[in-house]
Amino acid sequence: MNELTLYNTKSGEKEVFKSLQPKKAGLYVCGITPYDEAHVGHARCYVVFDVLRRVLESLEYKVTHIQNYTDIDDKIIDRAAKLKVPPAALAEKFINSFEKYMNLLNIKPAHSYPRVTQNIPQIQDMIQALIQRGFAYVLDGSVYYAVRKFADYGQLSKRNIDELEEGARVEVDKSKKDPLDFALWKKAKEGEPSWPSPWGPGRPGWHIECSVMSTQALGPDFDIHGGGQDLIFPHHENEIAQARGATGKNFAKYWIHNGFVTINQEKMSKSLGNFFTLKDVLAKTSPMVMRYFLLSQHYRGPLNFSDQDLKAVESVWNQRICGAARIAMNFANESVGKKPLSIDLRAEYNAIVAEFFNGIYTDLNTPVALGSLNKLCSFIFELDKREGPGISRDIWDQIRKEFEEMLEILGLVVPTFSDWDPKILDLVEKREAARKNRDWILADQIRQELKSFGVVVEDSSSGPRLRKIL
Ligand SMILES: [Zn+2]
Repeated sequence: MNELTLYNTKSGEKEVFKSLQPKKAGLYVCGITPYDEAHVGHARCYVVFDVLRRVLESLEYKVTHIQNYTDIDDKIIDRAAKLKVPPAALAEKFINSFEKYMNLLNIKPAHSYPRVTQNIPQIQDMIQALIQRGFAYVLDGSVYYAVRKFADYGQLSKRNIDELEEGARVEVDKSKKDPLDFALWKKAKEGEPSWPSPWGPGRPGWHIECSVMSTQALGPDFDIHGGGQDLIFPHHENEIAQARGATGKNFAKYWIHNGFVTINQEKMSKSLGNFFTLKDVLAKTSPMVMRYFLLSQHYRGPLNFSDQDLKAVESVWNQRICGAARIAMNFANESVGKKPLSIDLRAEYNAIVAEFFNGIYTDLNTPVALGSLNKLCSFIFELDKREGPGISRDIWDQIRKEFEEMLEILGLVVPTFSDWDPKILDLVEKREAARKNRDWILADQIRQELKSFGVVVEDSSSGPRLRKIL
């Protein structure tokens, strides 16, 4: 019944998703280089691919999601040297931190997280195959990919190889035969981690790992490859050249890329210094508010991040969405009415649900999906006001189930409580501390978050008192 369309960077068009094997989908997403705390740009990328996975799962695909860690790289080596810690320890620390924040954002963990340092023999095998098939050459202890040998180079990023050559000439590197060529294996430098190889000690270049680890896990032909737009060139272009050169197969069928996060319309990046870490952002707002905010714009466009924009989402999530969800939950358990929905209300409800699914299955249009979710909230508030428990429990139960299904696809979780949950007590304590510090803004934010759990906090002379709403 439902068909999923996705914009494929490779064709430059929206295509109907057809998996290579029935009801199975292989998904490879480029992972992080763990040398610092994860920032909002990471959160956006991985929330987008989490929604893609949830959408596939809602269509009953069995998804295999693979995401790498580039656990050895110049940035890791430099930072580790500065901090006087081993590179492996630095990478481990930031991998743990990354996973903690991904978990808070309700991003499903990948089925496997292969690491470069655990795949050195496999990487060397692919390099060897590229040399044998005439796509790579050895030069002074390093190995390079001969870009001109791969006829389709530039197809993904729609670049012309002669124009690329012009650009590359600016920084002529004498160690390569052609300025376009890129390193598959880098000769070891003094004091840096290295591995023995048929070409002498060294370490892999950046791009080779993803060709190796994706095809290892998903086969030489697989369904979807994803990452941020900034990876289209050269990273993904190089991945294609390597994988197709070594295996002779097609590699990924669909290439999906998410847009940048911007600050004042400028790309947010570590190198520009205008970035916010998830640690900072999630100290100020709840993960679900953040996740809702990240989904508020279509994944292919830019997403401007500001405190005001985030703030604007807070009451929508905490009061509107969570409030309506709880009304539906409550009546699904408690309604004693007998009334069905009128023909008009039934038509209105069906249209809202259809709009949600059409939106999300059309290139993951989350703004449309969130719009429908908000319409559903209005519908619930109105139904509650007019009919409330007069409507039969079956109808409320259907509304609750469909509401939950929509939230599940978007990865949004309405908090629930069982008596006084430890999480709620923790928030009450934090709010008390904020009040003592006269931080009224924070105290108010926490009050709002408590409302999302269906709890109102009232201040009295003997301390805060909690009251369940509904
Ligand atoms: Zn990659």
